[in-house]
Amino acid sequence: MVGGYQEFKAGIRFWNDYWCGNIRLKDEFPRIYRLSLNKDGLLKDYVDDSGPTKHWVFTFRRPLFDWEKSELLRLNTTLCPTPILNLEAQDNAVWSEAIAGQSLVSRIGILDGSASTLCIFCQAQQETAEHVLISYHLVWKVWTGLLQWWGTTWVVPNSVSNLLLWWSGFDCRKSERRIWNAIPLVTLWSIWKHRNECLFQASSPNLQELQELIVTRIAIWLKAASTKLHFSINDFLHNISAIRHCINEG
Ligand SMILES: [Zn+2]
Repeated sequence: MVGGYQEFKAGIRFWNDYWCGNIRLKDEFPRIYRLSLNKDGLLKDYVDDSGPTKHWVFTFRRPLFDWEKSELLRLNTTLCPTPILNLEAQDNAVWSEAIAGQSLVSRIGILDGSASTLCIFCQAQQETAEHVLISYHLVWKVWTGLLQWWGTTWVVPNSVSNLLLWWSGFDCRKSERRIWNAIPLVTLWSIWKHRNECLFQASSPNLQELQELIVTRIAIWLKAASTKLHFSINDFLHNISAIRHCINEG
């Protein structure tokens, strides 16, 4: 799985080897690769473990522009330890992703009653799972954008469990089901992760970039789970209809 940098072996080259699923980071993040000062470095060259927690460090030959920073953000997100998704479930078997989703939701649905109960994104409403994960208008825009990306529309569900129910009942081709099933899990996880970054690391809420980040994560996780998906992250971002066409033909 992507991101287990506790597991990395000596000698793996960060940009040039296939250690992150079946992708090479230099192919997926070409702009910042070109600017990287250490193009042939090993994984360990990119890890700063001087502090209490390990993190990735990169050096570039000049300051990054905004569009390059967003690629760096995507790279960092890609390298984050990720939850394990069961993406190999059969279409007609139990909705395994929903089970994973429900345990994810029950885990993230427990909101600490002693802390401030205002939503970190809008600071205006009480933080409930539904508000943070679905109905806050910028979050709602992320969902709507993802459904547009897929080429469909929906009626906004009023709870996370109804969302997962609607999702599992959605009519889609068997070959596409794995991608479809990954969407709500990656999205819920990504929103919650962003909420925690805002809460605990004082990041500013930035839900505008979340949709692209979510699609990137879906692509990377799926590609890491299957060698059959030979599409690039860029294809996932900009050409999902062509990907769906290909997998339906194949
Ligand atoms: Zn809010």
